Amino acid sequence: MSGLGPERLSLNTATVRERWNLSQCIDGCVRHGFGGIAPWRDKLQEMGTSAAARSIRDAGLEVTGVCRGGWFTENGVLDAEVLDENRRAVDEAEEIGAACLVMVVGGLSADSRDLPAAWRLVEDGLAATLEYARTAGVKIAIEPLHPMYAADRACVNTMRQALDICDRLGEGIGCAVDVYHVWWDSELDSQIARAGSDRLLAFHICDWLVPTRDMLTDRGMMGDGVIDIPRLRCMVEQNGFSGLNEVEIFSELDWWRRDPDEVLGTIAERARTAC
Ligand code: ZN
Repeated sequence: MSGLGPERLSLNTATVRERWNLSQCIDGCVRHGFGGIAPWRDKLQEMGTSAAARSIRDAGLEVTGVCRGGWFTENGVLDAEVLDENRRAVDEAEEIGAACLVMVVGGLSADSRDLPAAWRLVEDGLAATLEYARTAGVKIAIEPLHPMYAADRACVNTMRQALDICDRLGEGIGCAVDVYHVWWDSELDSQIARAGSDRLLAFHICDWLVPTRDMLTDRGMMGDGVIDIPRLRCMVEQNGFSGLNEVEIFSELDWWRRDPDEVLGTIAERARTAC
């Protein structure tokens, strides 16, 4: 089932973050025929959330997600600062009509080796934010990150772990499936089936380069790495996911250095041939 048209793509603004502001991203999506966009909060705030909401609506783009809430472990305790910040993220997601608010939950707290304590903070933070998000009608999407980020970004690292949390917290929370983070997982098929359409809230694509030169900012363009993206896309679609394919490429050494119009053109081409 290879062959996605650009209308099936959403641009995560991180992909062109070094060169385009949100307004340029919106125009770029329209120019290249993309169906949607997923703004990061810094870009949203720079433009102003209500202006961004208007502009995205006028451009006819879907919003596949807002990146990101979370970081519940940052202060070592769930204080007002952390919870307020997450409520603001929910408000922004609501204002731009996002399909979900993506959560990067946080890793170990500073000077801590206590991973179970981090898990508890994360779950409590998600529970508190979910309560608020339900009243706003915003879905919360836990994004399990590759285990190499467990210390400094997210201590939720597999779909199983994310779905266990979803099971305990109930309605309104699901997962963002990013192929970069989960492609290696031998339980991926069964966990995606377990998630089901209600909890498959976002699908992020890029590729895993061999070798990877930087843990954070060396993601590949689809087709340049080892991830079987068509198989994974098929898997989420067969389990009821019908949203757009969100392209999220952190690439300090390559794509961030190029003209964003070239980047979007290449994305559209690879979507047809490698996704
Ligand atoms: Zn992602």
